[in-house]
Amino acid sequence: MPSNSTDASGKNAAPPLPEPLRVPVADSHTHLDMQSGTVEEALAKAASVGVTTVVQVGCDIKGSRWAAKTAAAFESVHATVALHPNEAPRIVHGDPDGWSRQGARRPGGAQALDEALAEIDRLAALPQVKGVGETGLDYFRTGPEGKEAQERSFRAHIEIAKRHGKALVIHDRDAHEDVLRVLKEEGAPERTVFHCYSGDAEMAEVCAREGYFMSFAGNVTFKNAQNLRDAVAVAPLELLLVETDAPFLTPVPYRGRPNAPYLIPVTVRALAAVRGIDEDALATALGANTARAFGY
Ligand SMILES: [Zn+2]
Ligand SMILES: [Zn+2]
Repeated sequence: MPSNSTDASGKNAAPPLPEPLRVPVADSHTHLDMQSGTVEEALAKAASVGVTTVVQVGCDIKGSRWAAKTAAAFESVHATVALHPNEAPRIVHGDPDGWSRQGARRPGGAQALDEALAEIDRLAALPQVKGVGETGLDYFRTGPEGKEAQERSFRAHIEIAKRHGKALVIHDRDAHEDVLRVLKEEGAPERTVFHCYSGDAEMAEVCAREGYFMSFAGNVTFKNAQNLRDAVAVAPLELLLVETDAPFLTPVPYRGRPNAPYLIPVTVRALAAVRGIDEDALATALGANTARAFGY
């Protein structure tokens, strides 16, 4: 059944605009290319509630080129470029839904991954590209057969980020130990961000020691996410970031409806409540932290 997006009360309808933030913040991780409406509309809506900057994240070659192009066109958009941890194995295995969806079917193999990484390397040099990611490890969607390609790709992204002096954006799903191990083995870049932070308080202390930024998404508001709130409570204020990962992870009370950068205030307020600090003070820290993390 087609959804009716004009029905404001509908289950798939865009949530209403939250009360604006008084201090502007950035959405440190979003996917505008997966959301409905134009980029202009998304940015205007976000800015109207105090979300004045967004980091647009690339997940494959096509998306990374789009992120770089969009960041060049809009002052309030910064880009990151990468092959997503679930994309790297697809490229190696020659999946037509992966790298090859942009053109003729490719045979895959290690050489295809090298070619794709060379393009990420080229894009990472652009001035509007502030980070390399999302990269990392995802043991939830990628099975054992994809592990080797995933880790090789992760290591290559770390090297690219360091060589270009860009931030590293980590996607870590069910892979905390291995992500921390690979970072240690390669040597993490100066600025490393755990996007959609999913560890507990104990891991937050490890990240704090290493100086890794922890970016919290709307799932911090979910009832079953006490481990995330425990992490928020112990993370140093100067390492906290906020993100939507939109269109995914819409915060409560809009869970299940489409997410977008304009919903950042909902998550900022949830974080402020967990920390027991004033919303403006938290927003001030979040704004400064995101600028420092991505170097803009
Ligand atoms: Zn991710
Ligand atoms: Zn993402």
